[in-house]
Amino acid sequence: MKITAAIERGAATRPWNFAPGPAMLPAEVLAEIRAELEDYAGTGVSPLELGHRSDAFRALAQRTEESLRELMAIPADYAVLFLHGGATLQFGMVPLNLARQGTAGYLITGQWSAKAYAEAAGIGRAHAVWDGRAEGYLRLPAHAEWHLPRDCSYLHYTVNETIAGVEFHALPETGDLPLVADMTSMILSRPVDVRRHALIYAATQKNLGIAGLTVVILRPELLPEQTAGLPSMLDYRAHMAAASLLNTPPVFAWYVAGKMLDWIRAQGGVAALAARNRRKAQMVYAALDGSGFYCNAVHKSCRSWMNVPFRLHEAALEPLFLREAEAAGLRNLAGHRSAGGLRASLYNAMPEAGAAALAAFLRDFERRHG
Ligand code: PMP
Repeated sequence: MKITAAIERGAATRPWNFAPGPAMLPAEVLAEIRAELEDYAGTGVSPLELGHRSDAFRALAQRTEESLRELMAIPADYAVLFLHGGATLQFGMVPLNLARQGTAGYLITGQWSAKAYAEAAGIGRAHAVWDGRAEGYLRLPAHAEWHLPRDCSYLHYTVNETIAGVEFHALPETGDLPLVADMTSMILSRPVDVRRHALIYAATQKNLGIAGLTVVILRPELLPEQTAGLPSMLDYRAHMAAASLLNTPPVFAWYVAGKMLDWIRAQGGVAALAARNRRKAQMVYAALDGSGFYCNAVHKSCRSWMNVPFRLHEAALEPLFLREAEAAGLRNLAGHRSAGGLRASLYNAMPEAGAAALAAFLRDFERRHG
């Protein structure tokens, strides 16, 4: 079958993995990990065994931070932290540290920003500046549709909603008010202006490696002078003072993040990946839009490049779609358990050949069942 041939050309014998995260890693990164698994950099120990106080780890951590700063053009006056707890812990840490005075503003554009808002509202004063839930999270608001509270301390937004497939392609306009961004499902997929943000956070299991590590990029002067009463693990200042080594870090996830950053540099950096990601998304949306068989109802101006949710008009065919896709080497295309339907995640590691294989399968399945 034509599709199987495309898969063989693109990725030897491995299926294409469209999982939303933990997500696929580039073949080159997997090969490097395999080669180093028993001896990391001549230390005689595996990266799975590496001590976080060793010289080798210290060098690894320094290089990882330097790579992230270079690839994201992070200004020198920003701090970069490597923490545990996933993006979900940041839902709480952000208001605990930044919303001690005033009201935190939240743009609710999908399930992840709704969770971030709920956490902030349980901690202090939070205001839902706009909420797209009643409209099914199919679009982003125009600037005229939302107003910030007068005592607003920051505006939080989720750049890419992994479940709804809605993405901000331009920053929300807030004037001087600091932005806080959840970049978990789009970090390093295209250039972003870090300087416009007070704080950016992203768990690494989509575009930056494996689960267990969360990157936080922040402007220290925006932290309150006093964070007395916070447990140290929830206090950005304590993590900064300890260079992210307050306790034993997720060493292996940190190592993989370093490998991913090296790989991104070798691909030509974030701008080159952005061009590729755009082409991948266009291939898949074109196959969906060019048919009366599939649908993606997200407003075209805010469609995600990373996560493409879609449905079959005839929903009863979706289980068959998943079975046939799996047999053709296209894995993990089921939608989020809360949303149902189907979803293709096209993170940095997904080659164009993978997106092309999916687009070809979409057309082929429609031809046979449409
Ligand atoms: N924010 C976004 C946009 C996500 O996609 C996810 C996970 N899919 C999270 C937050 C939660 O991340 P974690 O599971 O690492 O806490």
